[in-house]
Amino acid sequence: MRRYRKLHIFFAMIVFMLAIVPMQQKVSAVTKSKCTSISRLTDPLAIQMEKGKMVIWDKVDPKLGAAKAKYEKLLKVKGWKIKYKSAYRPYQYQKHFYEIIHAPASSCKYAEIRKHSLVGVVSYPRPDAPHVAGIAFDAVVYDKKGRALNSSRYVSSSLKAVAKKAGLTFRLPTSDGVHHEVISSTPAPKKETKLKKKGKITTAVGFNVRTAPQATAKRLGSVAKNKTVQIVSKRGDWYKIKFGRGYGYIMAVKTGLRVL
Ligand SMILES: [Zn+2]
Repeated sequence: MRRYRKLHIFFAMIVFMLAIVPMQQKVSAVTKSKCTSISRLTDPLAIQMEKGKMVIWDKVDPKLGAAKAKYEKLLKVKGWKIKYKSAYRPYQYQKHFYEIIHAPASSCKYAEIRKHSLVGVVSYPRPDAPHVAGIAFDAVVYDKKGRALNSSRYVSSSLKAVAKKAGLTFRLPTSDGVHHEVISSTPAPKKETKLKKKGKITTAVGFNVRTAPQATAKRLGSVAKNKTVQIVSKRGDWYKIKFGRGYGYIMAVKTGLRVL
């Protein structure tokens, strides 16, 4: 009887070993792919994306949603197909991409690039980076014969025309031709409210300062955390501030600016 019990324990151990070996292999594969210069993700949405849910529409700007619907209709008429690669990105995920692109050369870096099929340009992670602001998506469009009409380095003129009709633009057709962005003709409400107050930047990443109140306007520079700025006026989520010898606009849509 005692001998049988020993036998049971012996078999139980074998089963246990068989189970644990593949588990260990999995763990070591994960550790191997870790890059020391890439921060760990904690944002639940960023973790979801890391697990493979790359295309997230939940938080996109309604303007992008409307343009997307129109674009799909126009593509359908032509018999073209669209394959989305990315849409909304939480700030932390934008940072993840940025860290990968700017990490020192290593096998881990290239593994991450391949894993995320990162091509083209990755914007600095700020609240008004196009994907973080929810005004852009990355996609490839295929014609009837299955030929791609755009890639990271190229956009066909016929596709550009269709996108324009839908209210979308390819901002960097030769370096990031998969990136579709809303044409922001009505970026901020016309009504400007005077607001002669000081403001303190509270977001860790600071803000881009632009020439006009729209995310696609030319970037003048940036203001860092804890800096105090002189606010002149406000238009929607855009604040006009004194910048250098002139003025600039910052988009404080997700706060990050404390009006003093
Ligand atoms: Zn993009």
